Amino acid sequence: MAILQQISARTFYIPGANNLGVVATGDGGAITIDTGLDKDTGRLIRKALDEAGLTLRAIINTHHHADHIGGNEYLVRNVPGVQVYAPPLEAALITYPLLEPVYLSMGAQPIAPLQNKWLMAKGVAVDHLIEADQLTIGGTTLDVIPLPGHSLGQVGLAVDGVCFAADGFFGPAILQKHGIPYAQDVGLQLASLGRVAARNDLFFLPGHGDLTPRDQLEELLAINQAAIERASAAVRAALADPGDLLTVARRVRVALGLQFAAIPQYAIFVSAVSAHLGYLVQQGSAQVVLGDEGMLWQA
Ligand SMILES: [Zn+2]
Repeated sequence: MAILQQISARTFYIPGANNLGVVATGDGGAITIDTGLDKDTGRLIRKALDEAGLTLRAIINTHHHADHIGGNEYLVRNVPGVQVYAPPLEAALITYPLLEPVYLSMGAQPIAPLQNKWLMAKGVAVDHLIEADQLTIGGTTLDVIPLPGHSLGQVGLAVDGVCFAADGFFGPAILQKHGIPYAQDVGLQLASLGRVAARNDLFFLPGHGDLTPRDQLEELLAINQAAIERASAAVRAALADPGDLLTVARRVRVALGLQFAAIPQYAIFVSAVSAHLGYLVQQGSAQVVLGDEGMLWQA
């Protein structure tokens, strides 16, 4: 079976734990939307395009998370002239991937377990910042959809009836597995769900989950919204007594029945709890006080 799965006349994807989008530019060129976890996914993209007789012209990175940019370095090294596109804030982290484990370490030099390929890809220079609401590459114009909230400056891309939604929403199995859909800014994450809902594309491809036809989108977005609201409610319930971040995170972990296989998953979870605390403060449902016991969060 071919690696590339066709969605519409000019759009394709490579299904996997992280779905990769491919857009044919019509002149024998192709754009890949994200590059997966590592050099193996980079190699897979190259093989898929070879099979289809397409030449990789550009990489568009939707956001900086390592599972979306891990194939960049392999492709930039092996495909002459390939151009890398990314939104401005994301571009900084794509160029300097050490910054992801640094922010998960409250700004400190990260310990070794946080410097693995799940949190830290190899960096590449970003050639073009995505700053307008449309992007034209090789004569093909894509709509740029701002989807911040999961990550600082995440974008989705839409072309030829297909919306590549990155981590703007997740499939049900992913939501089940993670307990809290990762957020950097919960208010923006909820607003971004609305921005996906407003699209009239025929198909929606999340980074993690199944290709979703338009008529199944509303239901899936409702499940995403419910998962975010459930996480917020769990964090709020954990503030019945004041607690510092790690105390609150422990209470939330117990309440949601979550287990972490390794330090990286725990660090990501604590970061997401922190985003929910900030959201509750914004909503007027929580406050933070500094006392002898440190920085305490309370309802
Ligand atoms: Zn992500």
